[in-house]
Amino acid sequence: MIIDCDANATYSPDERIRGVISSCLEDLGNPSSLHRSGQRARAAIEEGRASVKSLIGAGDKDTVVFTSGATEANNTAIAAVADRTGPILSASTEHPCVLQPLKRLAARGRAVTFLSPNSDGMITPEALSAALTPDTSLVSIMAANNETGVINPIAAIAERVREFAPQSLIHTDAAQLLGKGHVSMKALGVDLLTVSAHKIGALSGTGALCIRDGVEIDPLLLGGPQESKLRGGTENVLGIAVFGAVSAMIMAQLAERCEIMKGARDLFEESIARAIPGAVVNGAHAPRLPNTSSVYIPGVRADDLIVAMDLERILISSGAACTSGKPEPSHVLKAMGQDEERTRSTVRVSFRADLPLDTVPGIVIALTNAVERMRQVVKKG
Ligand code: PLP
Repeated sequence: MIIDCDANATYSPDERIRGVISSCLEDLGNPSSLHRSGQRARAAIEEGRASVKSLIGAGDKDTVVFTSGATEANNTAIAAVADRTGPILSASTEHPCVLQPLKRLAARGRAVTFLSPNSDGMITPEALSAALTPDTSLVSIMAANNETGVINPIAAIAERVREFAPQSLIHTDAAQLLGKGHVSMKALGVDLLTVSAHKIGALSGTGALCIRDGVEIDPLLLGGPQESKLRGGTENVLGIAVFGAVSAMIMAQLAERCEIMKGARDLFEESIARAIPGAVVNGAHAPRLPNTSSVYIPGVRADDLIVAMDLERILISSGAACTSGKPEPSHVLKAMGQDEERTRSTVRVSFRADLPLDTVPGIVIALTNAVERMRQVVKKG
């Protein structure tokens, strides 16, 4: 059996979800068609929209626009202010799909500031206030970080923005918080909120941007009237239907799922603190997602540890799964002030809600043994 501890983005094969997939596949009409097959597809999309809306705590009049994922949703949010002139505030710990479009705007002359986090990886409202100006046009800060699981105080940040730059748009990338914590568009006080289906166990290739009632943005993708004219292109009916079904399942069990993940995560962290000398949890003093552990293990290379754990059939990652494979050290850990040695010796272990608690001791033993073997090799070398 493979134990998946690289679970910040994994499809969970559940009977109910398989049911949704097979019924969609039986009759996958074009939702823009007027005939019955098209109307069934339309109904599946609207059902999906209602479920996603309710999981993200959106108001009745807020608009959920389905996209191809969080990358597209984040790019859409940023493109919404491309024609404005005011400065933009974001953070150096953001996902590359926020960093890169912002860097492109900066290269074209726009004032863009990337705030540094505190040593625990959190963007504080104080750091934001120091950089806010009355003409700020966009503040984009992620709700939770994909590498460390550190949660940013988005509601407090949004309050400061409303006070000091009332005309600014506020965007949050909530791709990691969804399904692992309470997400509420209303309570967070944001204008734009990004989510991704595969981060909650639905299919990759689907996401959404939620737009607060009264906020007007231009579509990024032109070419069709779909999604209230805010995203051209035939909708991914299957992806949206599964996103909706998983959202409804999670909605009913959110607190219980978080407790399970936190139980496994806490047991893991307590155990490695005893078993692996020098192991340190990154962001340990900040609020964190219940399932994510980013651990610095001195004296080992994260890449070697991933391979050693894979041989034990336990999947872990270094930094972000979506960027692992690239040789550069994590930009998130660097932004937290960590040196290159520490960034190269950090692994991410993330726990699924369906992982039995009694598998955690085995994971700890496998990790401890691998670390001891590697440290012996380094000593002898
Ligand atoms: N934002 C965050 C915080 C992520 O973790 C990811 C994951 O890769 C993305 C955005 C991109 O999501 P997607 O793969 O849906 O485009």
